[in-house]
Amino acid sequence: MGVVRARVPITADLVELRYAYGPHLLPDPGPVSDMWRYRDLLPIGEGTVRYPLPAGGTPLLALPGLRGVFPHLWVKDETRSPSCSNKDRATALACELALREGKTAITAASTGNVAVSLAVGAAAAGLQAYIFVSPAVDPGKLRLMLQAGATVFTVEEGYAAAFELSRRAAAAFGWYDRNTGVNPITLEAKKTVAFEIWEQLDRAIPEVMVIPVGDGTTLSAIAKGFRELRACGAGTRLPRLIGVQAAGCRPLMRAWLGETAGEIGTTIADGIFVTVPSNAETALRDVVESGGAFVSVPDEAILQAMSDLARRGGILAEPAAAAAYAGLLQARSQKLIDVEETVVIEITGSALKTPRYLEGRAGRVLPIHADLAQVAERLAAAGLRSR
Ligand SMILES: *Cc1c(COP(=O)(O)O)cnc(C)c1O
Repeated sequence: MGVVRARVPITADLVELRYAYGPHLLPDPGPVSDMWRYRDLLPIGEGTVRYPLPAGGTPLLALPGLRGVFPHLWVKDETRSPSCSNKDRATALACELALREGKTAITAASTGNVAVSLAVGAAAAGLQAYIFVSPAVDPGKLRLMLQAGATVFTVEEGYAAAFELSRRAAAAFGWYDRNTGVNPITLEAKKTVAFEIWEQLDRAIPEVMVIPVGDGTTLSAIAKGFRELRACGAGTRLPRLIGVQAAGCRPLMRAWLGETAGEIGTTIADGIFVTVPSNAETALRDVVESGGAFVSVPDEAILQAMSDLARRGGILAEPAAAAAYAGLLQARSQKLIDVEETVVIEITGSALKTPRYLEGRAGRVLPIHADLAQVAERLAAAGLRSR
């Protein structure tokens, strides 16, 4: 299969936002470097933003060590945020809206990162966080939620049930509902990733974006952002969206292939270990309309991608985030991407939260006494040069 181009014209489903600025998007970027610089394009009204933590404004990196195959590869590093995942944008907007609505509590279900993000964000905003997770949640992530004072329900029946329960609790107890995929503001917040990429590429739209997919909100938000940019006249096309799923849990890829739902296995990539994606239909439509594709990657490829990203790019990615890089390589082997294309991969979460998956494949430990001669000896023995 050759490189796939967009097949279907995409109509923007713009919410009532003020796209008065046309192709420049912002008349004057001004000094605000975070997500709130796009506040005119977000569903919040006037008045000072009270949410106190930074949101968005993450770097787009050109990493020479990762550009061997794709000379125009960019890494959107969403680990640079308060809780080190892309969930912090939606948390920021949700907490701000909760404050504006006079709420005192906020809830979400989570595979891990939404929960940590919400625990931290709610703590900063002075809101009580009620979090619903699977008992299989990453223990390190659970400790981070508790560290920030969240109340955590571990729901025996797993994430899909936790999701429904969190929604029902929000309705019953009047908590703000930050659940991804059902609260449209999660899309609104995460679409700012597309705006940032466009600005960081000197107002250009990349040809391809590779995005890990669990619920599908991250991918659809990026699609929405680029559609809105196009509606502004900022560009004429959209990037082809390549959604990456884990080989052990790929319900959206199966749907995209027209396969019947199969057995769900397992994966170390908890951020994309979603058996019943809440944003399935929209994510499927977005991938198809962009002329993109789904690919899947086994855990071994994810572990290798974690190692490659760290060793060659200095990027510490957790498994679900490293899946983007593994997916890039997979897409190349399926000839879904041309090496000359401008490609952006989104690194959605940090390895610092998932130390148990750090295998240290590339480096080495050399035990010695405090003796310079031993340093030289060990270097020589390891085949390394001292100068
Ligand atoms: C949530 C998450 C994803 C996937 O995002 P969805 O919006 O659920 O598709 C990918 N990577 C990490 C690290 C995540 O936390």
